[in-house]
Amino acid sequence: MKKIAPIFVLLILLIQNPLAVLATFQDGQGSRYTKTPLLSDREIAAMAAELNGIIAKDTIIELARHHRVQASSGFSRSAEYIASKAKEYGLEQVQIERFPADGEAVYHTLKSTPGWEAERGKLVEVEPNRVGVADYDEMRVALADYSQTAEVTAELIDVGAGTSAQDYEGKEVEGRIVLAGGNVAAVHALACKERGAVGILSYQQNQVTGWSGDYVDNVRWGHLSPYEPENKFAFMISLRTAAKYRERLARGERIRLQAEVKAAMQPGYYDIVSAVIPGTDPGEEIVYTCHLCHQKPGANDNASGAAAILEVARTLATLIRRGEIRQPRRTIRFIWPPEINGTLVYFSEHPEIVSRMKAVVHCDMVGGNFEITKSILHVTRTPASLPSAINTVAEIIANYVIAGSVKAASGQGVEDGLISPQGSKSSLVADITPYEMGSDHDVYQEGSFRIPAIYLRDWPDVFIHTNNDTPANIDPTKMKRSSFIAAASGYFLARANAEEASRLADEIFARALARVPRLRDRARSLEASGPEGAEEGRNLIAKSLESDAMALSSVLALVPGDEGLESKVDNLINQLSGSWLFLTGQFIERRRGDRITFTFEPKEEPKNKKKEKKPRNPKEASRPRSVVGDYSRVPSRKVKGPMNVYYYDYLADRASEEDLSIVRRIGSRPGGGRILYEILNLVDGKRSARDIRDFITAAYEPIPVEEVAGYLQLLEKVGVIEFEE
Ligand SMILES: [Zn+2]
Repeated sequence: MKKIAPIFVLLILLIQNPLAVLATFQDGQGSRYTKTPLLSDREIAAMAAELNGIIAKDTIIELARHHRVQASSGFSRSAEYIASKAKEYGLEQVQIERFPADGEAVYHTLKSTPGWEAERGKLVEVEPNRVGVADYDEMRVALADYSQTAEVTAELIDVGAGTSAQDYEGKEVEGRIVLAGGNVAAVHALACKERGAVGILSYQQNQVTGWSGDYVDNVRWGHLSPYEPENKFAFMISLRTAAKYRERLARGERIRLQAEVKAAMQPGYYDIVSAVIPGTDPGEEIVYTCHLCHQKPGANDNASGAAAILEVARTLATLIRRGEIRQPRRTIRFIWPPEINGTLVYFSEHPEIVSRMKAVVHCDMVGGNFEITKSILHVTRTPASLPSAINTVAEIIANYVIAGSVKAASGQGVEDGLISPQGSKSSLVADITPYEMGSDHDVYQEGSFRIPAIYLRDWPDVFIHTNNDTPANIDPTKMKRSSFIAAASGYFLARANAEEASRLADEIFARALARVPRLRDRARSLEASGPEGAEEGRNLIAKSLESDAMALSSVLALVPGDEGLESKVDNLINQLSGSWLFLTGQFIERRRGDRITFTFEPKEEPKNKKKEKKPRNPKEASRPRSVVGDYSRVPSRKVKGPMNVYYYDYLADRASEEDLSIVRRIGSRPGGGRILYEILNLVDGKRSARDIRDFITAAYEPIPVEEVAGYLQLLEKVGVIEFEE
């Protein structure tokens, strides 16, 4: 523990060597750092010249030929293609590993899905007209994943969404095919499993975007539950086709459909492709990942991410071989798994590799032409539970690319434009955004593994998960720019030297300092709301400072054992806490190992004040107060892995409906899924339930400690965590 002395001149330490400010940074080979402070102009020019948007788009075209459902032959063919290219590009240790996907094998918190193979899926209207409705041979998404063999002719009945009991009131669905707009797996449970329908004709719609409902010819990629062995079948149609059927049925027309399905769920394999560029020190690794799975065509989601990291691999391997950039110190590993499931399988089967991973660059949807798909490229930060220097690395590189693209589009010079000769010349529509969930990066950054991720993702994409996510929507220039952000960020992380790491620390410090006035204003307005608010205000400052200090300290991992860097980072943390001290008065800094915490001196606060605090909401007062004692007990992890793994829900498989009510309650908050994820991430054997509440409240939104404790109690009950005695 150390008490911070007031610092009167805050910025003097930033400029530790005043002369250095006057000189331009140079690398050992005399190249300067005028474009970014992290990579030399020479390295940037080499990557910009080699990265090729057309090669990347050609990979997308090849992958988009396959229906890449996890643990299916279409996925395997894609895996073989990627592996053959990785070998051709001179990568090392290229391999395709196979792990059982049979509905029984367990990998950390994942119960594996079975494989699925389809040969045929044809739906024909036979009465009153004879006309084709859906055909797997013409469109792979026409047949929902995990549909199974059937030969049946049946009447069609409209059940609306088909996802609640009311949708079926007064309707006889037994022996019929239901026309439904809700989630296909949920419709199957109610219509087929409970009520005896023989199959589903679905117009399930996509994730919500600003264009929802506008693209009436999209046919969504749907799936029945892979954990339901009694699956019938579901055919997928567009909103336009569905509207016509609904109209005809509403008029009282009797429509009979003939379904012919030859498909089965069966034991299969998760294929995982990987390859490396060896570093000089094999003890540490930087990872590039993506997901190789999804429907045919699935061009942006996610042939684009798979192609981007392959293009990064080709580029880095080529430039290193030619001596245009140095061999990195850390090994660079590339992984092409089936989404989330494959990553958790890899983590379960390769703990020794996972222990070497220092950071990951994850590409999931990175090529959408903005003018067609409406996609904004979001460079997404790590979750609040994992503050990291890599956020600033990604931000610096992305800002360089965005600025260069704007300059080129404005006619002020193309030298930083990263334009592919066959791609668009538009400026890159991109931003830096807070953490969002939904892909493999959730596994890397989960509290069991804590590997920070730079996550590049397009959102929205009006064609995501449909037949219309085609290579025609892909812009080679966008592919080149996304690949550049990935290549430059990851390469920096793989080979940064002490001087560059020191400059990165300055950049993190500058951003942290820039946030101080806004945070101070927020803290003050909380303070003005009363004594409880004042406590929240102090919590906000303490936790923000903790996060910034952790991000600054994480720079040390880039160049372990460098004493100059260590004292530099120490100084910057002192300056930052000093600036807060200057504004707010006394507080205490504690360092335990790599953990740094800040607390205000309790001089005006009786020690037991927190415990006596009255809940704001009178309803909360009437609830049993103590679910885990006094909220000061400290939980630690027993089971590794996230609670939601793709289609699998670890808690729902183990807890009663009643016990799960706390999950529903927190989950129904805005961003509730992320809060559930973060509560568990913050379980580290050091934080109490109250500490976790304080962190979530400062980083996301206020949450009552009872809810945090209630969720922890459920996690304890199913054996995911345990409390210290
Ligand atoms: Zn995706």
